[in-house]
Amino acid sequence: MGQCSPGLTNNMPPLPLLERIARAPILCDGAMKTQLMERSFERGLIPEREMSFSTGYWNVEHPEIVEAVHRDYLEAGAELILTNTFKAGVYHVMRLGRASSLAAAASESDRLLEAATQIARRACGNDAWVLADIGSIGQMSEMHGGERSLLREEFVRQARVMHDAGADALIIEYVWEPIEMVLAVEAAKSVADWPVIATPVFANWSYPDRGDYRTHRVAPEIDSAGVTIDEMIRAAVDAGADVVGAHCGVLDLADYTEIAGRILESPNRPEHIPVMIQPNGSETARPLDAEQGRSRPEALATWVPRLFDLGVRVLGGCCGTTPQDIRAMAGAASRE
Ligand SMILES: [Zn+2]
Repeated sequence: MGQCSPGLTNNMPPLPLLERIARAPILCDGAMKTQLMERSFERGLIPEREMSFSTGYWNVEHPEIVEAVHRDYLEAGAELILTNTFKAGVYHVMRLGRASSLAAAASESDRLLEAATQIARRACGNDAWVLADIGSIGQMSEMHGGERSLLREEFVRQARVMHDAGADALIIEYVWEPIEMVLAVEAAKSVADWPVIATPVFANWSYPDRGDYRTHRVAPEIDSAGVTIDEMIRAAVDAGADVVGAHCGVLDLADYTEIAGRILESPNRPEHIPVMIQPNGSETARPLDAEQGRSRPEALATWVPRLFDLGVRVLGGCCGTTPQDIRAMAGAASRE
């Protein structure tokens, strides 16, 4: 567990996260963005359910909506809650046109990250764990030398702000290039002795057959075919990740099961490092067709025992998953 700032020490879960994961499988939350969109649309805060609104700014402009999403996931049975910070870094603030310089963007981002962590901490109290969420910046292959060291500083900044605001651990999501994974994990580890979770994104390159799993997207001039699961797991583990897994991607539940198996069996994963899987629930992704005729929560629930029996220790949901999904998964987990 991370060392929190003075004053927050009474507001932390009773067990260090890795100890909790070692004792029994655990559920993480589901998607945030689609939940914010739904709720913001219903309240007339956005004109339609469109993808362009800034989730990061909701931490300061509509914190009550962010907190309500966290609370719904907790009530559904999640014990790990991700901060609403997947896109709250300097580059996202700049892209939104909310700052005119990198320095101004950094202080804007500080504000968003700190608010997000405080909201998640408030929702979790000391019953659940707050994961500081860092998303990929991408295009690493196009960055060199100085740019990469700037990026490392950016990861350090994000990790430090969320650590100091009370997060228990950190998760790095949606990374597809090993170099970015290494920079992000090392940066997070340099900030504190706290658990760091690495969940890259994989795809099935031999669609429609299963089997050729490599990272989802890589700049074409470097490696148009992505890197293998083993290569990515080695990068994450060597950099110091405490939990490794797979996140998002255009896959179905059978693919996630295959990927989970390969991560579990990877010679690059030491046995003590647990595996986490966050299936994508998006309707635009390939359908979760393994359980035809079932609703998505029912389909996800039937896979919970399979994934836990395989050896996965942490399960959650990515894009489009809902508190209903997590509730169904929690029901299946409790019947295990
Ligand atoms: Zn996703």
